[in-house]
Amino acid sequence: MHISISDNCVGCGACSAINPEVFEINRNFAIVNPDFVTGNEDSCIDAAIECPVNAINIYDF
Ligand code: SF4
Repeated sequence: MHISISDNCVGCGACSAINPEVFEINRNFAIVNPDFVTGNEDSCIDAAIECPVNAINIYDF
């Protein structure tokens, strides 16, 4: 699973509240820590669903 954040992130913090291992807010923008995605896939998907601007893109490969 690969995750990217698009430019329309508004830094609301919802993703990091759901999944603090993977998502961190830096200067009002979410950044992804790829090292912690494996094992946290379900909450990555939850974060993507909850993102109010659909800024979390998940790729499965
Ligand atoms: S939930 Fe979406 S808009 Fe909010 S910080 Fe995360 S990526 Fe950005």
